[in-house]
Amino acid sequence: MTTTGNAEPALSIKNLTVSYHNQPVLWDIELDIPAGVMAGIVGPNGAGKSTLIKSLLGLVPSLSGDVKVHGKPYAAQRKRVGYVPQRSSVDWDFPTTALDVVMMGLYGRLGWFRRPGRRERREALEALAMVGMTDFAERQISQLSGGQQQRVFLARALVQQADVYFLDEPMAGVDATTERAIIDILRRLRDQGKTVIVVHHDLQTVSTYFDWLLLLNVRVIAAGNAKEVFKIDHLRQAYGGQIALLGDHDSLMFPASKVT
Ligand code: ADP
Repeated sequence: MTTTGNAEPALSIKNLTVSYHNQPVLWDIELDIPAGVMAGIVGPNGAGKSTLIKSLLGLVPSLSGDVKVHGKPYAAQRKRVGYVPQRSSVDWDFPTTALDVVMMGLYGRLGWFRRPGRRERREALEALAMVGMTDFAERQISQLSGGQQQRVFLARALVQQADVYFLDEPMAGVDATTERAIIDILRRLRDQGKTVIVVHHDLQTVSTYFDWLLLLNVRVIAAGNAKEVFKIDHLRQAYGGQIALLGDHDSLMFPASKVT
């Protein structure tokens, strides 16, 4: 898949405004994310990053806005979109196994009334193998570690075979091995031409992980090619005084030699 300028964007947002209790948390968002990129959404706590993803997926209502996924409204493209929610927003005590969670990713394809069969079970097991969770297939999700739970959710997104993936802080609270495993899988999806959109909080890894970036703080501070967006003046605009807490500014910049 191509990422050249005139190709149809994977995600196109126009004039999106969202508020909670009359307080706008996203204001007049306007951007296009090209197809086939690994895109990061970065900004301070409360910037509206999760709300942005939820509003795109129709999980929170918007006051205004027009959102298209590969040129059509989300409702018409639901099956082409995969979503990995923030781990903390999931009820992990729900009595179900890792394998069941992954098979839920197939319901969009099957429809709610057709039960998954042997083929779906095999696909779900393959996805669990891809995230290194084969041995935990029959384990209750409540008995998995945070990183393992995150891998299971990633496997659920994988079986969907979506074209656009949204992941809300998939690396939060996972160990370094799991973070590497997650990023490897996301890169593989990107290399297959899929669009991977990730809410991310660790500025130190932004330059290695993402090729497209949205810097958000209620409004779009900057959006586009990651190298052009990830600059100290943009970060200052997004983070304000908090930027002083983010450590050595130079180390946040793109080292010219870094291979992503
Ligand atoms: P981020 O993901 O960037 O940390 P969020 O999208 O979670 O930001 O939140 C943006 C703002 O909206 C914050 O001020 C937050 O307190 C508020 N907010 C988020 N969810 C709700 C909700 N369900 N009801 C009311 N306010 C909310």
